[in-house]
Amino acid sequence: MATSLDISHRKTEAAPETAAARKNLLGLTRDELGAALALIGLPKNQIRMRTTQLWNAIYTRGQSDFAEMTTLSKELREKLAGHFVVARPEIVTEQKSVDGTRKWLLRLASDRPGLPGPEVETVYIPEEGRGTLCISSQVGCTLTCTFCHTGTQKLVRNLTAGEIVGQLMVARDALGEWPNSGRNADDRLVTNIVMMGMGEPLYNFENVRDALDIVSDGEGLSLSKRRITLSTSGVVPMIERAGAEIGSMLAISLHAVNDETRDKLVPLNKKYPMAELLEACRNYPGLSNARRITFEYVMLKGVNDSLADAKELVRLLKGIPAKINLIPFNPWPGSPYECSDWAQIEKFADVVNRAGYASPVRTPRGRDIMAACGQLKSETVKARASERFKKADAQPSA
Ligand code: SAH
Ligand code: SF4
Repeated sequence: MATSLDISHRKTEAAPETAAARKNLLGLTRDELGAALALIGLPKNQIRMRTTQLWNAIYTRGQSDFAEMTTLSKELREKLAGHFVVARPEIVTEQKSVDGTRKWLLRLASDRPGLPGPEVETVYIPEEGRGTLCISSQVGCTLTCTFCHTGTQKLVRNLTAGEIVGQLMVARDALGEWPNSGRNADDRLVTNIVMMGMGEPLYNFENVRDALDIVSDGEGLSLSKRRITLSTSGVVPMIERAGAEIGSMLAISLHAVNDETRDKLVPLNKKYPMAELLEACRNYPGLSNARRITFEYVMLKGVNDSLADAKELVRLLKGIPAKINLIPFNPWPGSPYECSDWAQIEKFADVVNRAGYASPVRTPRGRDIMAACGQLKSETVKARASERFKKADAQPSA
C-alpha cells in the first residue's frame, strides 16, 4: 500500500508521553517539516509528497486536527497525532471597535511549566477593498521609543516563526476565511500584512523571515511579499539583510528630521544615526515608483510637527522612492506627548502633498479598544500596571 509506513529498520523517535512534549508543526519551513517526518520514520521517497500534503492541510485548508486530514492515510494521521500538534496561539480575548477593527489578545505557549504563557496582541483593520492584519514579532520590545506603549514593556521573548504565522491563522479562524467557510477564494478578508504590532521585527530576524516565507508561499496562505510590509525603527545592519533574505515592502519609523530630535524619540538613533539609516534605505533592493519605502512619521505636538520640519522631511527623502505616512499620535495611559492639533497635521500634510506625496495621514483605527499604532501591550502587564496605580492611589498622601 502506497501510504503504509515502512518503519521496521529505520531509526525513529518514540512517541512522546505527554501532549506538551509533542512538537508543534506550525511555523516549520518545508525542509524542517520534511526533516520532522523523516525523524518519525517516513521512508525517504515519501517525504516530499507527504510534506506537500501536510502543508496544504495546514496552510491551504487551515486544519489543525490530524484526524481531519483525510488526504493522508489513517495510519499516518494516527502516527502524526502521536508525535506532533498543529497549535496556534490561544485567544484570550477578542475586542471589536466601533469602526470594525478587531483586536485579539493571544496567549503563547508557556516557557515555564505551571505558569501561563506570555501574551501578544494582533489587530485586524478592515478597509474599503482590503483588510490589513497587524502582527507582533516580540513580547515587549528591547527598544524604548518614548512615544510607544510597547516600549514601556521590557522584552519578554521573541516569537517563534509558528507564533508569527499563528497570528494569521487565528485571524483567519475568527474571520471564517478558510475554504470550508464557503467564501469565494478571491474574496479575501486579510489581503495585507504589516509587521507593526509589538516588537522590533529585525531583532527577531530568522523567525520573522521564516514566518513570512511560509505566509507568502504560493501554496497555502499565498500572500505575496508585495502585500507584506515590515516596519523597523531603523536597525541599519539588518535592513540590508532584510532586503536580501525577506524581500517584503519596507517601512521606516522615521518620526523626526534631525538626529537631535530622533535621538529622543527613537533612542536607537544614537547607535544608527539618520544619515546611515537613509543610506540603507537608498540601497534597499528593488525600489521603484511602484515599490516605495514607507516613512512613518508620528505627529507629536510641538516636538516634530512644524512646517519647517515638513519641508526638511521632503528634502531628506529626495531621491528615495518614498511614501510618507503621517500618524496622529495615539495616546496611552501615562504617555508623555500630545497629538498635534488637527489643523497643524493638515498644514504639515499640505507641504508633503505639494511635494508630490499623496494622502499621507493615517486614520487612527481601533483607538477605543487600544488597538491603534503604538497602543499595544500585553494585558497582564497592563493589569499589573493598573494594580500599581490603584495601590499608589490608596497610599495616604504625605
Ligand atoms: N518596532 C517596529 C514596528 C512596531 S511599531 C517599529 O518601530 O517600526 C509600528 C509603528 O507604530 C511604528 O511606526 C511606531 O513608531 C508607531 N507608533 C508607536 N507608538 C505610537 C503611538 N503612540 N502613536 C502612533 N504611532 C505609534
Ligand atoms: Fe519597539 Fe517599535 Fe515601539 Fe520602538 S516603536 S519601542 S521599536 S515597538
